[in-house]
Amino acid sequence: MENKNFETQAIRAQLGRSENNEHSVPVYLTSSFVFDSAEEMRAAFNDESDDYIYSRYSNPNVNEFVNKVCLMEGAEAGVAMASGMAAIYTTFMSILKSGDHLVSCSSVFGATHAIFTKYFPKLNISHSYFNVKHPGEIEKLIKPETRFIYLETPTNPAIELIDLEYVAAIAKRKNILLIVDNCFATPYIQQPIKYGADLVIHSATKYMDGQGRVLGGIVVGKKELIHEIYLYGRLTGPSLSAFNAWTLSKSLETLAIRMDRHCENALFVAEALEKNAAFENVSYPFLKSHPHYNIAKKQMKLGGGIITVTVKGGYEAACKFMDKLKMVKISPNLGDSRSIATHPASSTHCKLSEEERLAVGITPGLIRVSIGLENKEDILNDILNALNK
Ligand SMILES: *Cc1c(COP(=O)(O)O)cnc(C)c1O
Repeated sequence: MENKNFETQAIRAQLGRSENNEHSVPVYLTSSFVFDSAEEMRAAFNDESDDYIYSRYSNPNVNEFVNKVCLMEGAEAGVAMASGMAAIYTTFMSILKSGDHLVSCSSVFGATHAIFTKYFPKLNISHSYFNVKHPGEIEKLIKPETRFIYLETPTNPAIELIDLEYVAAIAKRKNILLIVDNCFATPYIQQPIKYGADLVIHSATKYMDGQGRVLGGIVVGKKELIHEIYLYGRLTGPSLSAFNAWTLSKSLETLAIRMDRHCENALFVAEALEKNAAFENVSYPFLKSHPHYNIAKKQMKLGGGIITVTVKGGYEAACKFMDKLKMVKISPNLGDSRSIATHPASSTHCKLSEEERLAVGITPGLIRVSIGLENKEDILNDILNALNK
Protein backbone atom coordinates (compact mmCIF):
# COMPACT_ATOMS: atom_id res chain seq x y z
CA MET A 1 0.00 0.00 0.00
CA GLU A 2 1.31 3.46 -0.92
CA ASN A 3 0.08 5.35 2.10
CA LYS A 4 2.20 4.35 5.08
CA ASN A 5 0.38 6.27 7.81
CA PHE A 6 -0.73 4.00 10.65
CA GLU A 7 -4.38 5.08 10.84
CA THR A 8 -4.88 4.89 7.07
CA GLN A 9 -3.36 1.42 6.79
CA ALA A 10 -5.45 0.24 9.74
CA ILE A 11 -8.58 1.12 7.77
CA ARG A 12 -7.56 0.65 4.15
CA ALA A 13 -5.44 -2.51 4.27
CA GLN A 14 -8.34 -4.83 3.46
CA LEU A 15 -9.18 -7.78 1.25
CA GLY A 16 -10.05 -7.19 -2.39
CA ARG A 17 -13.76 -6.96 -3.18
CA SER A 18 -15.75 -10.05 -4.08
CA GLU A 19 -18.04 -10.14 -7.14
CA ASN A 20 -20.71 -8.51 -4.98
CA ASN A 21 -18.83 -5.19 -4.70
CA GLU A 22 -19.28 -4.91 -0.94
CA HIS A 23 -17.71 -1.87 0.77
CA SER A 24 -17.07 -3.49 4.16
CA VAL A 25 -15.31 -6.87 4.08
CA PRO A 26 -17.69 -9.82 4.69
CA VAL A 27 -17.02 -12.82 6.97
CA TYR A 28 -15.75 -15.86 5.08
CA LEU A 29 -17.31 -18.56 7.23
CA THR A 30 -16.24 -21.56 5.21
CA SER A 31 -14.17 -24.50 6.35
CA SER A 32 -12.81 -25.30 2.90
CA PHE A 33 -12.38 -23.84 -0.59
CA VAL A 34 -13.00 -25.34 -4.04
CA PHE A 35 -10.67 -25.76 -7.01
CA ASP A 36 -11.47 -25.54 -10.71
CA SER A 37 -9.36 -28.59 -11.46
CA ALA A 38 -7.48 -31.43 -9.83
CA GLU A 39 -4.29 -29.78 -11.10
CA GLU A 40 -5.07 -26.53 -9.19
CA MET A 41 -5.66 -28.48 -6.00
CA ARG A 42 -2.42 -30.37 -6.51
CA ALA A 43 -0.52 -27.09 -6.99
CA ALA A 44 -2.05 -25.57 -3.84
CA PHE A 45 -1.11 -28.61 -1.73
CA ASN A 46 2.43 -28.50 -3.11
CA ASP A 47 2.90 -24.81 -2.16
CA GLU A 48 3.04 -23.84 -5.85
CA SER A 49 0.14 -21.39 -5.43
CA ASP A 50 -1.32 -19.49 -2.46
CA ASP A 51 -4.89 -20.54 -3.19
CA TYR A 52 -6.96 -21.07 -0.06
CA ILE A 53 -7.32 -24.76 0.80
CA TYR A 54 -8.85 -25.20 4.22
CA SER A 55 -9.47 -22.75 7.08
CA ARG A 56 -7.14 -24.56 9.49
CA TYR A 57 -4.39 -23.56 6.99
CA SER A 58 -5.57 -20.10 5.99
CA ASN A 59 -8.69 -18.02 5.51
CA PRO A 60 -9.30 -14.61 3.85
CA ASN A 61 -10.39 -12.87 7.07
CA VAL A 62 -7.44 -14.31 8.97
CA ASN A 63 -5.10 -13.15 6.20
CA GLU A 64 -6.49 -9.63 6.30
CA PHE A 65 -5.99 -9.47 10.06
CA VAL A 66 -2.42 -10.80 9.77
CA ASN A 67 -1.50 -8.40 6.95
CA LYS A 68 -2.77 -5.45 8.94
CA VAL A 69 -0.77 -6.35 12.04
CA CYS A 70 2.36 -6.89 9.89
CA LEU A 71 1.99 -3.36 8.48
CA MET A 72 1.45 -1.96 11.98
CA GLU A 73 4.49 -3.72 13.48
CA GLY A 74 6.74 -3.29 10.42
CA ALA A 75 7.02 -7.10 10.12
CA GLU A 76 7.80 -9.26 7.09
CA ALA A 77 5.24 -11.95 7.89
CA GLY A 78 2.81 -13.18 10.52
CA VAL A 79 0.53 -15.95 11.63
CA ALA A 80 -2.66 -15.69 13.70
CA MET A 81 -3.88 -18.15 16.34
CA ALA A 82 -7.00 -18.79 18.39
CA SER A 83 -5.65 -16.99 21.48
CA GLY A 84 -2.60 -15.18 22.78
CA MET A 85 -1.47 -18.35 24.56
CA ALA A 86 -1.84 -20.38 21.34
CA ALA A 87 0.44 -17.85 19.61
CA ILE A 88 2.97 -17.99 22.45
CA TYR A 89 2.98 -21.79 22.80
CA THR A 90 3.12 -22.46 19.05
CA THR A 91 6.01 -20.02 18.70
CA PHE A 92 7.95 -21.77 21.48
CA MET A 93 7.27 -25.25 20.11
CA SER A 94 8.36 -24.38 16.60
CA ILE A 95 11.72 -23.01 17.82
CA LEU A 96 12.71 -25.15 20.81
CA LYS A 97 13.90 -28.73 21.02
CA SER A 98 14.88 -30.98 23.90
CA GLY A 99 18.02 -29.69 25.61
CA ASP A 100 17.42 -26.04 24.71
CA HIS A 101 17.36 -23.17 27.17
CA LEU A 102 15.68 -19.76 27.17
CA VAL A 103 16.13 -16.54 29.12
CA SER A 104 13.00 -14.63 30.12
CA CYS A 105 12.02 -11.72 32.31
CA SER A 106 10.52 -13.12 35.51
CA SER A 107 7.41 -10.95 35.32
CA VAL A 108 5.75 -12.76 32.42
CA PHE A 109 2.06 -13.50 31.92
CA GLY A 110 0.94 -16.23 34.36
CA ALA A 111 0.21 -18.88 31.72
CA THR A 112 3.57 -18.26 30.03
CA HIS A 113 5.25 -18.79 33.42
CA ALA A 114 3.30 -22.07 33.76
CA ILE A 115 4.58 -23.30 30.37
CA PHE A 116 8.18 -22.58 31.44
CA THR A 117 7.88 -24.14 34.89
CA LYS A 118 5.32 -26.94 34.55
CA TYR A 119 5.49 -28.26 30.98
CA PHE A 120 8.95 -27.41 29.63
CA PRO A 121 10.83 -29.46 32.26
CA LYS A 122 9.00 -32.55 30.88
CA LEU A 123 10.48 -31.76 27.45
CA ASN A 124 13.94 -31.11 28.91
CA ILE A 125 13.70 -27.40 28.05
CA SER A 126 15.08 -25.14 30.77
CA HIS A 127 14.77 -21.43 31.50
CA SER A 128 16.48 -18.71 33.49
CA TYR A 129 14.62 -15.66 34.74
CA PHE A 130 16.04 -12.15 35.02
CA ASN A 131 14.48 -9.37 37.03
CA VAL A 132 13.54 -6.36 34.87
CA LYS A 133 15.02 -4.14 37.56
CA HIS A 134 18.44 -5.64 36.77
CA PRO A 135 18.82 -5.95 32.98
CA GLY A 136 22.58 -6.26 33.52
CA GLU A 137 21.93 -9.88 34.62
CA ILE A 138 20.70 -10.95 31.18
CA GLU A 139 24.02 -11.51 29.47
CA LYS A 140 25.34 -13.73 32.28
CA LEU A 141 22.35 -16.06 31.98
CA ILE A 142 22.95 -16.88 28.31
CA LYS A 143 24.43 -20.36 27.70
CA PRO A 144 25.53 -22.11 24.50
CA GLU A 145 22.12 -23.85 24.34
CA THR A 146 20.09 -20.64 24.84
CA ARG A 147 17.81 -20.07 21.85
CA PHE A 148 16.09 -16.80 22.73
CA ILE A 149 15.42 -13.97 25.15
CA TYR A 150 11.73 -13.51 25.94
CA LEU A 151 10.23 -10.41 27.47
CA GLU A 152 7.19 -8.26 28.08
CA THR A 153 7.37 -4.48 28.35
CA PRO A 154 5.48 -2.92 30.06
CA THR A 155 5.31 -5.91 32.38
CA ASN A 156 2.15 -7.36 33.81
CA PRO A 157 1.00 -6.33 36.33
CA ALA A 158 3.72 -4.13 37.84
CA ILE A 159 4.11 -1.89 34.72
CA GLU A 160 7.90 -1.97 34.73
CA LEU A 161 9.82 -1.36 31.50
CA ILE A 162 12.78 -2.93 29.73
CA ASP A 163 14.95 -1.06 27.23
CA LEU A 164 14.27 -2.92 23.97
CA GLU A 165 17.31 -1.52 22.16
CA TYR A 166 19.60 -2.67 25.00
CA VAL A 167 18.25 -6.23 25.06
CA ALA A 168 18.15 -6.52 21.25
CA ALA A 169 21.86 -5.64 21.15
CA ILE A 170 22.63 -8.49 23.59
CA ALA A 171 20.58 -10.97 21.55
CA LYS A 172 22.36 -9.91 18.37
CA ARG A 173 25.82 -10.14 19.95
CA LYS A 174 25.04 -13.63 21.29
CA ASN A 175 23.39 -14.70 18.04
CA ILE A 176 20.08 -15.65 19.67
CA LEU A 177 16.53 -14.47 19.03
CA LEU A 178 14.63 -11.74 20.83
CA ILE A 179 10.89 -12.41 21.25
CA VAL A 180 8.65 -9.68 22.69
CA ASP A 181 5.09 -9.99 24.01
CA ASN A 182 3.85 -6.53 22.96
CA CYS A 183 0.32 -6.96 24.27
CA PHE A 184 0.28 -4.12 26.81
CA ALA A 185 1.67 -1.48 24.46
CA THR A 186 0.02 -2.43 21.12
CA PRO A 187 1.80 -1.65 17.81
CA TYR A 188 0.37 1.87 17.88
CA ILE A 189 2.47 2.70 20.93
CA GLN A 190 5.56 0.52 20.55
CA GLN A 191 7.13 -1.40 17.66
CA PRO A 192 9.79 -3.78 19.02
CA ILE A 193 10.98 -4.82 15.53
CA LYS A 194 12.32 -1.28 15.05
CA TYR A 195 14.68 -1.94 17.97
CA GLY A 196 15.78 -5.37 16.75
CA ALA A 197 13.18 -7.89 17.97
CA ASP A 198 12.89 -10.99 15.75
CA LEU A 199 9.34 -11.94 16.72
CA VAL A 200 6.52 -9.94 18.30
CA ILE A 201 3.54 -11.65 19.91
CA HIS A 202 0.12 -10.29 20.87
CA SER A 203 -2.86 -11.47 22.77
CA ALA A 204 -5.33 -9.85 20.35
CA THR A 205 -7.97 -10.51 23.02
CA LYS A 206 -6.87 -7.32 24.77
CA TYR A 207 -6.50 -3.94 23.02
CA MET A 208 -6.71 -5.31 19.48
CA ASP A 209 -10.29 -6.39 20.06
CA GLY A 210 -10.65 -3.65 22.64
CA GLN A 211 -14.22 -4.44 23.58
CA GLY A 212 -13.87 -7.69 25.51
CA ARG A 213 -15.60 -9.87 22.90
CA VAL A 214 -13.32 -12.39 21.20
CA LEU A 215 -10.11 -14.31 21.86
CA GLY A 216 -7.25 -14.16 19.39
CA GLY A 217 -3.48 -14.19 19.13
CA ILE A 218 -0.85 -13.29 16.58
CA VAL A 219 2.90 -13.54 16.06
CA VAL A 220 4.74 -11.43 13.48
CA GLY A 221 8.37 -11.05 12.47
CA LYS A 222 11.08 -12.72 10.36
CA LYS A 223 9.73 -14.67 7.42
CA GLU A 224 11.69 -17.93 7.95
CA LEU A 225 10.69 -18.10 11.62
CA ILE A 226 7.05 -17.33 10.84
CA HIS A 227 6.96 -20.06 8.22
CA GLU A 228 7.97 -22.68 10.81
CA ILE A 229 5.42 -21.35 13.30
CA TYR A 230 2.75 -21.41 10.58
CA LEU A 231 3.55 -25.05 9.71
CA TYR A 232 3.44 -26.11 13.36
CA GLY A 233 0.10 -24.30 13.83
CA ARG A 234 -1.46 -25.63 10.64
CA LEU A 235 -0.67 -29.20 11.69
CA THR A 236 -1.56 -28.96 15.37
CA GLY A 237 -4.71 -26.86 14.88
CA PRO A 238 -4.89 -23.73 17.09
CA SER A 239 -6.20 -21.71 14.11
CA LEU A 240 -8.02 -18.41 14.52
CA SER A 241 -11.68 -18.54 13.46
CA ALA A 242 -12.81 -16.43 10.50
CA PHE A 243 -15.38 -14.68 12.67
CA ASN A 244 -12.86 -13.71 15.32
CA ALA A 245 -10.40 -12.55 12.64
CA TRP A 246 -13.13 -10.43 11.04
CA THR A 247 -13.98 -8.90 14.43
CA LEU A 248 -10.32 -8.20 15.20
CA SER A 249 -9.60 -6.69 11.80
CA LYS A 250 -12.58 -4.35 12.16
CA SER A 251 -11.38 -3.42 15.65
CA LEU A 252 -7.92 -2.52 14.35
CA GLU A 253 -9.57 0.22 12.26
CA THR A 254 -10.10 2.09 15.53
CA LEU A 255 -6.96 1.00 17.42
CA ALA A 256 -5.18 4.37 17.09
CA ILE A 257 -8.14 6.48 18.15
CA ARG A 258 -8.95 4.11 21.03
CA MET A 259 -5.37 4.00 22.27
CA ASP A 260 -5.14 7.81 22.17
CA ARG A 261 -8.14 7.97 24.48
CA HIS A 262 -7.09 5.05 26.73
CA CYS A 263 -3.75 6.80 27.24
CA GLU A 264 -5.25 10.25 27.78
CA ASN A 265 -7.64 8.83 30.39
CA ALA A 266 -4.93 6.76 32.09
CA LEU A 267 -2.54 9.70 32.39
CA PHE A 268 -5.33 11.90 33.77
CA VAL A 269 -6.33 9.31 36.40
CA ALA A 270 -2.71 8.48 37.31
CA GLU A 271 -1.79 12.16 37.78
CA ALA A 272 -4.85 12.77 39.96
CA LEU A 273 -4.34 9.67 42.11
CA GLU A 274 -0.63 10.33 42.56
CA LYS A 275 -1.55 13.36 44.67
CA ASN A 276 -3.93 11.34 46.86
CA ALA A 277 -2.57 10.35 50.27
CA ALA A 278 -4.69 7.16 50.36
CA PHE A 279 -2.24 5.54 47.95
CA GLU A 280 1.19 4.32 48.86
CA ASN A 281 2.17 4.31 45.20
CA VAL A 282 0.73 5.07 41.76
CA SER A 283 2.58 3.75 38.73
CA TYR A 284 2.21 4.70 35.07
CA PRO A 285 5.02 4.80 32.46
CA PHE A 286 4.41 8.44 31.51
CA LEU A 287 4.43 9.73 35.11
CA LYS A 288 7.73 11.53 35.78
CA SER A 289 7.96 9.60 39.06
CA HIS A 290 8.07 6.24 37.21
CA PRO A 291 11.53 4.68 37.69
CA HIS A 292 11.69 3.84 33.97
CA TYR A 293 10.26 7.14 32.69
CA ASN A 294 13.26 7.64 30.37
CA ILE A 295 12.83 4.22 28.76
CA ALA A 296 9.10 4.91 28.36
CA LYS A 297 9.78 8.20 26.58
CA LYS A 298 12.36 6.54 24.35
CA GLN A 299 10.37 3.56 23.08
CA MET A 300 6.69 4.32 23.73
CA LYS A 301 4.61 6.87 21.82
CA LEU A 302 2.21 7.15 24.78
CA GLY A 303 2.01 5.63 28.27
CA GLY A 304 -0.54 2.90 27.59
CA GLY A 305 -3.89 2.22 29.23
CA ILE A 306 -2.86 0.39 32.41
CA ILE A 307 -2.04 1.97 35.76
CA THR A 308 -1.31 0.34 39.08
CA VAL A 309 -2.22 1.74 42.46
CA THR A 310 -1.13 0.48 45.86
CA VAL A 311 -3.60 1.24 48.62
CA LYS A 312 -2.34 1.79 52.14
CA GLY A 313 -3.30 -1.07 54.46
CA GLY A 314 -2.23 -4.05 52.34
CA TYR A 315 -4.31 -7.05 51.26
CA GLU A 316 -7.48 -6.28 53.23
CA ALA A 317 -7.54 -2.59 52.31
CA ALA A 318 -7.06 -3.52 48.63
CA CYS A 319 -9.99 -5.96 48.66
CA LYS A 320 -12.19 -3.46 50.51
CA PHE A 321 -11.37 -0.78 47.95
CA MET A 322 -12.13 -3.17 45.06
CA ASP A 323 -15.50 -4.09 46.58
CA LYS A 324 -16.53 -0.44 46.78
CA LEU A 325 -15.89 0.31 43.11
CA LYS A 326 -19.22 0.73 41.31
CA MET A 327 -18.61 1.41 37.62
CA VAL A 328 -15.12 -0.08 37.40
CA LYS A 329 -15.68 -3.84 37.38
CA ILE A 330 -13.66 -6.62 39.04
CA SER A 331 -12.48 -8.85 36.18
CA PRO A 332 -9.27 -10.47 34.93
CA ASN A 333 -9.42 -8.93 31.44
CA LEU A 334 -7.72 -5.74 30.33
CA GLY A 335 -7.67 -3.49 27.29
CA ASP A 336 -11.46 -3.24 27.23
CA SER A 337 -13.55 -0.12 26.57
CA ARG A 338 -14.87 -0.72 30.11
CA SER A 339 -12.54 0.08 33.02
CA ILE A 340 -11.49 -3.02 34.97
CA ALA A 341 -9.76 -3.55 38.32
CA THR A 342 -7.75 -6.67 39.19
CA HIS A 343 -6.06 -7.60 42.48
CA PRO A 344 -3.12 -9.73 41.25
CA ALA A 345 -2.00 -11.09 44.65
CA SER A 346 -5.36 -12.83 45.25
CA SER A 347 -6.23 -13.77 41.65
CA THR A 348 -4.02 -13.80 38.53
CA HIS A 349 -0.83 -14.39 40.56
CA CYS A 350 -2.24 -16.39 43.50
CA LYS A 351 -0.25 -19.49 42.48
CA LEU A 352 3.05 -17.71 43.13
CA SER A 353 4.59 -17.70 46.59
CA GLU A 354 4.60 -14.40 48.48
CA GLU A 355 8.33 -14.18 47.87
CA GLU A 356 7.96 -14.76 44.12
CA ARG A 357 5.23 -12.13 43.99
CA LEU A 358 7.29 -9.53 45.79
CA ALA A 359 10.23 -10.17 43.47
CA VAL A 360 8.10 -9.11 40.50
CA GLY A 361 6.59 -6.12 42.30
CA ILE A 362 3.25 -7.63 43.32
CA THR A 363 2.68 -6.32 46.82
CA PRO A 364 -0.47 -7.30 48.81
CA GLY A 365 -1.99 -3.85 48.22
CA LEU A 366 -1.27 -3.62 44.49
CA ILE A 367 -4.26 -3.16 42.17
CA ARG A 368 -4.05 -3.10 38.38
CA VAL A 369 -6.54 -0.80 36.72
CA SER A 370 -7.18 -1.08 33.00
CA ILE A 371 -8.45 2.39 32.22
CA GLY A 372 -11.35 2.25 29.78
CA LEU A 373 -12.95 4.67 27.36
CA GLU A 374 -15.60 6.05 29.71
CA ASN A 375 -15.46 9.75 30.57
CA LYS A 376 -12.19 10.27 32.47
CA GLU A 377 -13.84 12.26 35.30
CA ASP A 378 -16.32 9.41 35.81
CA ILE A 379 -13.49 6.86 36.05
CA LEU A 380 -11.59 9.02 38.53
CA ASN A 381 -14.69 9.69 40.63
CA ASP A 382 -15.55 5.99 40.83
CA ILE A 383 -12.05 5.34 42.21
CA LEU A 384 -12.17 8.29 44.63
CA ASN A 385 -15.63 7.28 45.87
CA ALA A 386 -14.37 3.77 46.61
CA LEU A 387 -11.75 5.31 48.90
CA ASN A 388 -14.04 7.64 50.75
CA LYS A 389 -16.84 5.37 51.85
C1 LIG B 1 -3.82 -12.00 28.11
C2 LIG B 1 -2.37 -12.07 27.86
C3 LIG B 1 -1.81 -13.21 27.25
C4 LIG B 1 -2.63 -14.43 26.88
O1 LIG B 1 -3.56 -14.14 25.88
P1 LIG B 1 -4.94 -14.97 25.70
O2 LIG B 1 -5.55 -14.31 24.51
O3 LIG B 1 -5.72 -14.79 26.96
O4 LIG B 1 -4.58 -16.38 25.46
C5 LIG B 1 -0.45 -13.21 27.02
N1 LIG B 1 0.33 -12.17 27.37
C6 LIG B 1 -0.17 -11.06 27.97
C7 LIG B 1 0.75 -9.95 28.33
C8 LIG B 1 -1.53 -10.98 28.23
O5 LIG B 1 -2.02 -9.89 28.83
